[in-house]
Amino acid sequence: MGYRVHTFSPDSDTPAGHVSDIETTALYDDLDLVRRFARDVDVITFEFENIPAATIETAAEFVDVHPRGSVLHTTQNRLREKTFLSINGFPVAPFRQIRLIEDLYDAAAEIGFPCVLKTAGFGYDGKGQKKLTGPGDIESAFVAMNGSEAVLEAFIEFQKEVSVVCARGADGEFVHYGVIENEHKDHILDLSFSPGNVRGTVCAEAVEITQNIAEAFGYVGTMCVEFFLTQDDRLLVNEIAPRPHNSGHLTFGPCVTSQFEQQARAVCGLPLGSTGFYRPAAIANLLGEIWTGGEPDWAKALSATNVSLHLYGKSEPRAGRKMGHLTATDETPKAAAEIVRRARQMLLEKA
Ligand code: AMP
Repeated sequence: MGYRVHTFSPDSDTPAGHVSDIETTALYDDLDLVRRFARDVDVITFEFENIPAATIETAAEFVDVHPRGSVLHTTQNRLREKTFLSINGFPVAPFRQIRLIEDLYDAAAEIGFPCVLKTAGFGYDGKGQKKLTGPGDIESAFVAMNGSEAVLEAFIEFQKEVSVVCARGADGEFVHYGVIENEHKDHILDLSFSPGNVRGTVCAEAVEITQNIAEAFGYVGTMCVEFFLTQDDRLLVNEIAPRPHNSGHLTFGPCVTSQFEQQARAVCGLPLGSTGFYRPAAIANLLGEIWTGGEPDWAKALSATNVSLHLYGKSEPRAGRKMGHLTATDETPKAAAEIVRRARQMLLEKA
């Protein structure tokens, strides 16, 4: 789009840094460097949730930050996020704040088993989560939280997990990509396809909830809402991602405008683009495990038709780390999902 990009990160040699014009490597709490960075750019956005609120506040003294720092502050902590959702009338699984072990005993008695204890901050992809199946699990789950503030929530025997990726402009323009269906493995997103296989009314409701959340935040940029769909077709919001989302990677290629382009358009004050899909699409994540036997033979996955490869350029392929994804398109979402699953499987097969 012709923009020059300047990244700021505590790490060097980062995926975003590889494709930016200038890469500043500094700690988020080095506020002098944050100020210098903010003076140098026209607009700021972020794609990582655990940035300290003070970093964003400091930057915002000099330049617009989208989405606003208060959105980041709310969404980077499960307790604040769930409280925001429930006081604004959005559906969430029953939850309680946990500080002391007594809170956990009381909350487990109210919510019942099974339930899930999650750290309030710094949790993603199932990190900092413990499932409790009975009172015997309370003590060990509490100890595992290591003194961190936590949230206890009901375990939902969901029918499926879905997400809605949307974008909202500063003038309130709202676009969305419909319902994406997500499959997780070991709490980590494994495969997504679009359109998701849900009833039209569920789709409309998921989009309406997403739009209302974006409005309640006065959101500017790309945002994702992740939902549980219960056995009786009720939607519960699990999480909000204040950034382009892993499930929305399937918009990159198969859509007229990707979630990343929407982010750039929204934060730069441009009109949003069409969210139309050329064809149904699916993605399969590539985690660090795939590198166990050395660099995978990418040609194997790419020999399938309609499959494309995206590697993020992360330096170290650790287990559970999202290193890239494969995208496939076909006439139906189910067929696209099958193609992408097979293409990934081919990477794992030895010659
Ligand atoms: P989270 O990091 O909270 O998004 O959790 C990661 C994944 O763990 C979710 O996408 C679900 O597959 C599973 N999970 C988290 N919370 C619950 C819950 N309350 N009930 C059932 N499954 C859950």
